[in-house]
Order: sequence, then C-alpha cells, then structure tokens
Amino acid sequence: MKLILLGPPGAGKGTQAQKLVADFGYAQLSTGDMLRAAIAAGSEMGQKVKGIMDRGDLVSDDIVVGIISERIDAPDCAKGFILDGFPRNGAQAEALDKMLDEKGMKLDVVISLEVVEKDLFARIEQRAKETVGGPRADDNVKALKKRLEIYHEQTAPLIKYYGDQGVLKTVDGMAQIDAVSAQIAKILAEV
Ligand code: AMP
Repeated sequence: MKLILLGPPGAGKGTQAQKLVADFGYAQLSTGDMLRAAIAAGSEMGQKVKGIMDRGDLVSDDIVVGIISERIDAPDCAKGFILDGFPRNGAQAEALDKMLDEKGMKLDVVISLEVVEKDLFARIEQRAKETVGGPRADDNVKALKKRLEIYHEQTAPLIKYYGDQGVLKTVDGMAQIDAVSAQIAKILAEV
C-alpha cells in the first residue's frame, strides 16, 4: 500500500501515520521528521534548512524529492509506505509521479484530512506543550500562519490534482483520533 496523507499543519497526518505504522507495518515517510533529524544531527543539509523551517517556509524541492526517492527504496518500505508532509506543491507531486513510474510503483490512494482551520491554532499550541524535549521551532503562531498560507497557495491545489487522477479520498479530520483512524482503515480496506 502506497498512500499520501494530505492536510494542513496540525491536521493529524503524523498521528494517523503512526497508527498506520503500528496497525499495518507500513513505513512512515515524514519529510518534516527527516529534516528535523538532519538538523539535530548537525549535517550540512540540516544547517542549510534550519532557518527556512523555523520561519515556516518550504525547503527546496530538490532536497525533499531526493530524500524521498532514496527512502522509498529501503527494505522497510516493501510492505508499503505513508507519505506524510510530501508532496507539498505541484512540482513535488509531478516529481513523485515520475519517480514512482521509474521505479515501477503506483500510488494507491491519497487521503485528505479535512479540518476546521481556526481550530488548528489550539491544536498546535497543545502539541507545542506536549512535545518531548521542547516545542518545535515552528510550532508558534507566527510560523503557523506562514505554514497555513503556504498550504493554501501551494499544497491545497494537490486536492484537485489527485482528484483528477481518481485517487483522492477525504476523511473528517476533526473527529476523535480513533474515529479518524477507523475512517482511514475503511478506505484502505476498499482500495
Ligand atoms: P512538517 O513536519 O511536515 O510540518 O514540516 C515542517 C517543515 O519542514 C515545513 O514547514 C517545511 O519547512 C519543511 N518541509 C517538510 N516537508 C516538506 C516538503 N515536502 N517540501 C518542502 N518543505 C518541507
């Protein structure tokens, strides 16, 4: 199973991806987590992206496309993988299509988590409080506003992109975590 979880920051993509890892053994490919790991490791790439991420901007397509392309060949992706936070714009979506095609792979489904945007500020505030080791540098009102702006401009058009490809499904991301997981499990059982 190869799927994308689509939705604005705070929609619950990471939480749902982790549940899918636990329940189905798919690999969670979160570009945000991978970039934060690169920053924590102090790598050259990490140093390059830190400032960009902290203010809520997108890092360059080349970087994230490269990371994903390498990562999906790893053995833990054999059962399937969940793309969480990638693609985030049209160029990345097209690069993903091309990459999967070249690897002889096919996307099974794109699940869009629909949320009420004004509630995302409270969710992110809560996440900032609960994050072990301190809040993410971009979990604050200013960066979240920027991330939402970018989501609308660049990521939301992917809903139509995947709708046109006939692979889009939507779930109510405002429901309780387990109820969202149940909606997702139902979709996966049907694809
Ligand atoms: P996330 O953990 O998905 O909220 O991502 C945190 C930050 O990492 C984003 O605000 C971007 O700066 C960067 N990032 C993560 N994924 C991508 C992506 N696919 N394209 C560009 N930047 C990304």
